[in-house]
Amino acid sequence: MRTAIGVDLGGSHVTAAVVGEDGAIRQQHEEDLEDLRFEAVIAALEATIGMALRDAGDVVAIGIGSPGNIDASSGAVLYSPNFGWENAPLGQTLRAKFGLPVFVGNDARCATLGEHAFGAGKATTDFVLLTLGTGIGGGIIGRGELLLGNRWGAGEIGHHQIRPRDGFVCACTKIGCFEAQASGTGLIRHTFAVAPSFPRSPLLDVSREKLSSKKIRRAAQAGDGHALAAWKNFIGDLAIGLANIIAFVNPQMIALGGGVSTAGDFMLDAVRPQVDALTTMVPRGTTEIVVALLGNDAGQVGAATMALRGGLAAASVVAA
Ligand SMILES: [Zn+2]
Repeated sequence: MRTAIGVDLGGSHVTAAVVGEDGAIRQQHEEDLEDLRFEAVIAALEATIGMALRDAGDVVAIGIGSPGNIDASSGAVLYSPNFGWENAPLGQTLRAKFGLPVFVGNDARCATLGEHAFGAGKATTDFVLLTLGTGIGGGIIGRGELLLGNRWGAGEIGHHQIRPRDGFVCACTKIGCFEAQASGTGLIRHTFAVAPSFPRSPLLDVSREKLSSKKIRRAAQAGDGHALAAWKNFIGDLAIGLANIIAFVNPQMIALGGGVSTAGDFMLDAVRPQVDALTTMVPRGTTEIVVALLGNDAGQVGAATMALRGGLAAASVVAA
């Protein structure tokens, strides 16, 4: 069976996995990232990929999912606010180091490819993945092909504004982006926004930095009033974004991944009727909303799938 190395390059760590054509992860190596300068990240990538290559023996190619706007034909990171990079020659540098074909794509687009090929979206041709984590990453599959856009920007669903007047400020500088309102970070911000109505809330006992979306989600599931008020606003904003996506794409399925999605039916049962209520022109109930299946592995599996397919799109041209 052909295998590839699939790499998930995050803001705090890098994970490299040996992945087969069946989408199964054979081995995995992880390293923390402390220094985000290009040379330091290259060194960390070299170390983790090197370990994975020693496990793997023969591999066809290396695939890397990275945050930012990425030219998937050259593997250059055109712009990544997470790393503070512009026009960073990531693919080119690694190709020279390993002498193997190296493919680089946006991390969320890679995760979409993985979730579509081997996860929740397996049987679909029109599919959207959203990862609700620190931000919201997304990707769109139409008629079986990943949508790349004119300049690699298709799928930046997290930055469509849903509350431009009264929303939270997004990391991208706009106000009320879907990501600012309906990511894990959004849930935390909703919790602080409604806090004045709950002065004796146990959620406020921990310091501001320690309040995690997981803690809020669990408190909401346990019936805590403060957490439920925040959760209700969060679900309302999530529903607006999902209904917008349905109006744009009407996919067969939207899969929700990331930390918040571990709430499972507690989240789905709340959001589905609100999405229906906001769905007007597209026939209601024609987009299934589910929880993604691959979890944190989606990025590595998708990056390896990209490498095995020779790029994010069938038409990708990449130098070895
Ligand atoms: Zn934004």
